[in-house]
Amino acid sequence: MQHIDDETLALLALGEDVLDDDARAHLASCAECADGAARLARVADAFDGADAPDELVEPSPAVWSAIHAELGLAEASADLTAPSAGPDAPAAGTSAVVVPLAPRRRRVWVPVAAASAALLVGVAGGVLWERREAEPPETTLASATLDPLPDWEGASGDARVEEQPDGRRQVVVTVDAPAPEGTYREVWLLAEDLSGLVSLGVLDGAEGRFDLPDGLDLAQFPVVDVSEEHFDGDPAHSGDSVVRGPLDV
Ligand SMILES: [Zn+2]
Repeated sequence: MQHIDDETLALLALGEDVLDDDARAHLASCAECADGAARLARVADAFDGADAPDELVEPSPAVWSAIHAELGLAEASADLTAPSAGPDAPAAGTSAVVVPLAPRRRRVWVPVAAASAALLVGVAGGVLWERREAEPPETTLASATLDPLPDWEGASGDARVEEQPDGRRQVVVTVDAPAPEGTYREVWLLAEDLSGLVSLGVLDGAEGRFDLPDGLDLAQFPVVDVSEEHFDGDPAHSGDSVVRGPLDV
């Protein structure tokens, strides 16, 4: 098995449950991946604790003196950072340095934590983005121009059959025709010789999307038909088709 990739390790560090059994077993036995996971977990932990006040500990004067010496700072600069120059202020080089050191530490710490967080967020965002990108759009399997029947001159429409990434098929129908009061539209698939038909449902408004029943063979019912129906309780086709057209299957 390959090593676990950085994105997965980053998501793991963010607390996501992303490992399958194989990956978990690999992580348990691979020093390199375990090391990477631990490194990213430290980054995540560091950011979590970055704002906690108890992260900012007061160093002893000896530590500050050592830093002072290491940086080659003149004794005078300690005076500049002292919070007070009043008569009660402690002498430079001893306790006067405790207060400015905390902000000093914070100045370094926050950008590091922010950069680490940005890395993690960036990686996680990248993964999500890739997943979205990887999802293919629906495919158009067939389309049809819907022409008006003689009683419906001026009406028009079109239809297309889409296949979703999960394999579902849907028919999208658009019709432009006046809808008289007290009537509604129903969408059908007809056999080419009009010997059979399947109702897809009621078209509400100018456009509708209808699921195709699983197993329906479009080659057997290749004609899209939109009928005008009345509220008469009769589920059969009214015989009054508004527009109709063959799918190019
Ligand atoms: Zn590994």
